[in-house]
Amino acid sequence: MKDANCIFCKIADGEIPSIKLYEDKNFVVIFDISPAAQGHAIIISKTHAKDLFELPNEYAANIMVVAKKVGSALMEALNCDGMNILQNNGEAAGQTVFHLHVHLIPRYADDAVNI
Ligand code: 5GP
Ligand code: ZN
Repeated sequence: MKDANCIFCKIADGEIPSIKLYEDKNFVVIFDISPAAQGHAIIISKTHAKDLFELPNEYAANIMVVAKKVGSALMEALNCDGMNILQNNGEAAGQTVFHLHVHLIPRYADDAVNI
């Protein structure tokens, strides 16, 4: 499913070009345009779902496997000390793009990142 007005649908489709860190049948992973920390990436589903609650189960079942795969590769490549893996559902929870995504936020000792 696609939403013609959705920026992440356009990125997932390749309509808006991006550098993909990872891609499979259901997901693309790109760097966040406004990183909370060096190497901040986001996993975007290829189907349009507003949030986790609307995400079809076959995607939900696989997204943490992608987080593990890409997250561990980023940990190694960046030599960071930790990683926040999180996603926001609803404006009240801090969601700003209403197309399901999971954040991979590398953390560095004493980085003072506030999330
Ligand atoms: P949310 O606040 O919805 O959990 O996260 C949305 C994230 O998407 C933010 O971290 C924001 O910087 C990022 N973002 C918004 N628009 C774009 C874009 O066009 N390209 C990329 N790479 N990231 C985006
Ligand atoms: Zn979308």
